[in-house]
Amino acid sequence: MNTDPPLPDKKGAAEDKSVAQAVDWSDFRDHIATADKSGRRKWIYPRQVNGRFFRWRTWFSWLLLAIMFGGPFVTINGNPLLLLNIPERKFVVLGQIFWPQDMIIFAVALLVFLVGIIIFTTVFGRLWCGWACPQTVMMEMVFRKIEYAIEGDAPSQRALNAAPWTVGKTFKKLLKHGIFFGLSFVVGNVLLSYIIGWRELYQIVTEPPAKHLAGLGFMAAFSLLFYGIFARFREQACTFICPYGRHQSVLVDENTILVAYDHTRGEKRGPIRHEQKFTERWQTGQGDCVACNMCVAVCPTGIDIRNGVQMECVQCTACIDACDNVMDKIGAPRGLIRYASLNGIERREPLRFTPRLAGYCVVMAVLGVVLGLMLFLRSDVEATVLRAPGSMFQQMPDGHFSNLYTVRVVNKTSREMPVELRLENPAGSLNVMGTGSIVVAPQKLSENSVLIELDPAAMKSGATPLVIGVYSSGKKLQTLKTAFIGPRN
Ligand code: SF4
Ligand code: SF4
Repeated sequence: MNTDPPLPDKKGAAEDKSVAQAVDWSDFRDHIATADKSGRRKWIYPRQVNGRFFRWRTWFSWLLLAIMFGGPFVTINGNPLLLLNIPERKFVVLGQIFWPQDMIIFAVALLVFLVGIIIFTTVFGRLWCGWACPQTVMMEMVFRKIEYAIEGDAPSQRALNAAPWTVGKTFKKLLKHGIFFGLSFVVGNVLLSYIIGWRELYQIVTEPPAKHLAGLGFMAAFSLLFYGIFARFREQACTFICPYGRHQSVLVDENTILVAYDHTRGEKRGPIRHEQKFTERWQTGQGDCVACNMCVAVCPTGIDIRNGVQMECVQCTACIDACDNVMDKIGAPRGLIRYASLNGIERREPLRFTPRLAGYCVVMAVLGVVLGLMLFLRSDVEATVLRAPGSMFQQMPDGHFSNLYTVRVVNKTSREMPVELRLENPAGSLNVMGTGSIVVAPQKLSENSVLIELDPAAMKSGATPLVIGVYSSGKKLQTLKTAFIGPRN
């Protein structure tokens, strides 16, 4: 018995503004395809698909999977291909190490990336989602295929889930979820190795667990997270969580190329009679869509592409293949569902370079030049100077005053770098405490205590501006400025 309070109808809702608008279940834009009227999840059983796009996507996904799983082991000049070590604030992209001091470069790179995404999406829609997104690749090309191999195609899966628990069903479910969890563990570890590096990961796996409790915790959390996503959450991740998917509606326009149903050719849809000719159908006002629903049956997000552009569509091309197969069977040309823009379908217009696109390209070009310049001018060494915390100025027996500083030097190159500090203004002495000189190991940070002494004659009352030159092999790399604290007159 339904104990839910009755939903207000649209008329009632219009009269009473305090009531949320009732859902119009006949309008596909009023609700999502994966929830029923009580808000419960409707499990999607997409049918297996075959066709040229599926074949191309399969080959492409093998390439992407090889890159994704092999990436942590690839090094360039001894550095990883990609490392996003957030805890240590160390980032490596294509073998280039970026330090916290490079954050401004990172921020501009992020802007270039975002504008690039906007341009790409404006032209090609969610091509990324369907072909290259790790979620789609793993879900459709790995986990879904394992599910088909163990439980069969959609009708068998439906029947299995509805059937009572038997030894056979228990075995299949345990096998499937065991493999799913094992794979999720691998995926979680790959993600972890992009954060901490595969060597650290290896240590976590091989050393006593007590030494790596945090690492093991993340390993377990990532494994459970991916198992949850691929075993249960599935298409909901694209519909509800992914910010890229949520922004589609503001990025696409009538010139964007999308997986689209050609309604001018397909409508009015209706079943085809045995041996009915298409010319006969056209004469009676019918279109090429034979209402077989195969495009809906294969859709992993459960939508009907014939309703038009929808937020849930990840542009996976499964409906193109399904419909092409139907067209082949009934002797009609392929492409009733195809990559096309709305203007391409309705007005037969080719892709246009719109003013909006031109604007994005200009912004992209400017940001690209700025980023290029920043990378070109990025120095090999980054030094900072700070007065040593808690230290006071001292007067020496010879009457000179001294201040203690901490100089941090980051070596961004992959070679050892000798660094010399020279006090350039005013005249005085500068001594690196301890070693007397600075040599920074490749890709490392060196922290040094530096004592500066000034003659009282060169000092101003209170604070005296200091200029320190940072040199390597006689070449000036940077100028540091700080203040020398002394007595007030
Ligand atoms: S697969 Fe093609 S013919 Fe069949 S319902 Fe979908 S659009 Fe129509
Ligand atoms: S509508 Fe077509 S392209 Fe979009 S998600 Fe469904 S099957 Fe994939």
